[in-house]
Amino acid sequence: MPSLICRGCGAVVSESLVDLGVQPLSNAYVPRAMSDAAEAFYPLHPMVCARCFFVQLGVFASPEKIFGNYAYFSSYSTSWLDHCTAHVAASVERLGLGDRSLVVEIASNDGYLLKSFVERGVPVLGVEPAANVAGEARRNGVRTRTAFFGAEEASRIADEHGRADMMLANNVLAHVPDIHDFVEGFRRLLADDGVATFEFPHLVPLLEQTQFDTIYHEHFSYLSLLALEPVFAAHALAVVDVDRISTHGGSLRLWVAHAESARGPAPEVDELRRLELAAGLADLDTYRAFAPRVRKIKNDLLRFLIDAAERGKRVAAYGAAAKGNTLLNYCGIRSDLVEFVVDRNPHKQGHLLPGSRLPIEAVDRLSERRPDYVLILPWNLTAEIVEQMAAVRSWGGRFVIAVPSLTLDP
Ligand SMILES: [Zn+2]
Repeated sequence: MPSLICRGCGAVVSESLVDLGVQPLSNAYVPRAMSDAAEAFYPLHPMVCARCFFVQLGVFASPEKIFGNYAYFSSYSTSWLDHCTAHVAASVERLGLGDRSLVVEIASNDGYLLKSFVERGVPVLGVEPAANVAGEARRNGVRTRTAFFGAEEASRIADEHGRADMMLANNVLAHVPDIHDFVEGFRRLLADDGVATFEFPHLVPLLEQTQFDTIYHEHFSYLSLLALEPVFAAHALAVVDVDRISTHGGSLRLWVAHAESARGPAPEVDELRRLELAAGLADLDTYRAFAPRVRKIKNDLLRFLIDAAERGKRVAAYGAAAKGNTLLNYCGIRSDLVEFVVDRNPHKQGHLLPGSRLPIEAVDRLSERRPDYVLILPWNLTAEIVEQMAAVRSWGGRFVIAVPSLTLDP
């Protein structure tokens, strides 16, 4: 394997977390008309730095290729929208934002979050690399630049719009190949007393609950406070508060300010440091225990699906999400074991999942086909899906999840 240089500290990284084989990009949905064409597969093999414990993938495909025409529109999960609205309301109050403030969101998607600031009269600027998604944001009335964010782009924005009182980066830090250039952009664009919030899935639940299906090529880094504090410090930024939140199976929201600002660290920052050490994040044995648990999940799911097939039972899946693709492709599951997948997002319907080539159908398809089992791929939304899809039980259908362990009727 070619050597990997640690994205955090620059050391050579040679410690494997888990080898998930070769897989296509998890958001590279295949149009049905293209089903005869080949797909590109890339190694999916996260590694851990033995010096700073930064967990990372090598970058095999360019960010432009991965994010240039991103099919993921966040607006379709109601629990996620509620989560965002609550964060906006809390931020406006906590930071005293008003009509003379500027809020800049990086990877602002279709503007669903910034729209809540606009409704409260706070000026906003979105920065979004995917042109189709940025266009959707502008149609929603959210001022948006089509750009990749980094140090140089931050300087251009500061020149044109002034510096920002608040910056947000929700579920983007992990998608950034050059994390130092990205964080430097926050140093340049954030006002002296400004605050930035970064949300990302936390490494602790990923390891403890064996959430290996949250590993995919678009997601270059698997983050912790332990690995990030030195990165922020290198750019004269400091973590001043943290929230532990339940999205994506357990996420962190870090509140970050200029190290020289008057905002001192809240006690929760030190609490989180201690929690991560207690979880073993600074001990390589913690990482070495992960791969055997991943293999057990694969074996249990395949055993269940093969047994179902042999008993003449039919299985469909719910949720054409990235994490489903990692699970399906790592396990080698094709349409002989899982017939199709349904998804509420009309942009995905009519496509095939990358690699596994499962057809993506509208949700109505479940009540037409009445499968015996519905495998829920985005397990983080299990409660919401089971409630919305209660009709599945009316024909005796049962829900199944595979992660963190195979569970019937979750
Ligand atoms: Zn390192």
